[in-house]
Amino acid sequence: MYNIAIDGPAGAGKSTIAKQIAKRKGYIYVDTGAMYRAMALFLIDNHISPEESEKISRKCLEADISIVYENGEQVVLLNGRNVNGLIRTEQVGSMASASSVNGDVRKKLVELQQKLAKEADVVMDGRDIGTCVLPDADLKIYLTASSDVRAKRRYDELIARGEECDIGVIKRDIEERDYRDMHRDISPLKQAEDARLVDSSDMTIEEVIEKIMGMCV
Ligand code: C5P
Repeated sequence: MYNIAIDGPAGAGKSTIAKQIAKRKGYIYVDTGAMYRAMALFLIDNHISPEESEKISRKCLEADISIVYENGEQVVLLNGRNVNGLIRTEQVGSMASASSVNGDVRKKLVELQQKLAKEADVVMDGRDIGTCVLPDADLKIYLTASSDVRAKRRYDELIARGEECDIGVIKRDIEERDYRDMHRDISPLKQAEDARLVDSSDMTIEEVIEKIMGMCV
């Protein structure tokens, strides 16, 4: 199997890039953030708050999260229900960031991710893929961009969707999430020693794709 790991902070463009690389190589794209989001949705639905770590540890065992593919798109199933349309909110994103510090949540989802990578050629994106989930990945990319650029991209996305937002608030939220992801005890976000650094701040999507395609052997 050929496995490509793409890690980096929120808003660096990981999913856009990973999806395109997977398409061009004919590999499966695995969005691990979506799994943490599905778990977060499950916890929110069960009225559990981010501080209740014991409850999270117990309850997460009841969440059956799986991935299927429909027309080449990843569909996340939570206890058999397609939750793709419910996991992209800021509330779910914040809960995912908070609950992903829990060791029991991580253990469960990492096992699922490793199983997927064993069964197929994958491009997998997340925070700990190169360092923890797939330490033997054939290619590891650490994709980043400045927080100003990431905030601007997110702002443009929300405006295009007709949502009202404040770029200052978005930037603060991105920086808080980075801090939490980089400073947690278990599997913090960091560049694996053997990962190639790609800073997309001044690059177009196409340029980033070309650069990474050139790194695949
Ligand atoms: O990438 P996305 O924003 O969808 O991820 C949501 C949250 O899930 C992240 O803020 C991060 O805390 C967590 N996550 C993680 N490990 C991964 C992928 C996502 O901890 N491999």
